[in-house]
Amino acid sequence: MLRNQLMGEAMKTDLQGHAYAELNKLKSGDKVKADGGFPCIKKDAVLEVSADETGELFIPCTSGRHYVEGQLDDDGNSLIGLYPVS
Ligand SMILES: [Zn+2]
Repeated sequence: MLRNQLMGEAMKTDLQGHAYAELNKLKSGDKVKADGGFPCIKKDAVLEVSADETGELFIPCTSGRHYVEGQLDDDGNSLIGLYPVS
């Protein structure tokens, strides 16, 4: 939190204060955890991020590829419903 305040960025969190994954920090091979808001992904599933042929990032879901940009908040960086896994 402090680091982001120093950088002058507002960090998006869910109602419990957990920070969402951020598109500009995500890369192929990273893992993210899903919340319970996806019809196509189990709650708390930990998924590996992959990049398609054009470099777009996605996670696997029951319909195939779930592109993370579909989760973008209107801040253009926070990925709603996905949490970083370290
Ligand atoms: Zn999906």
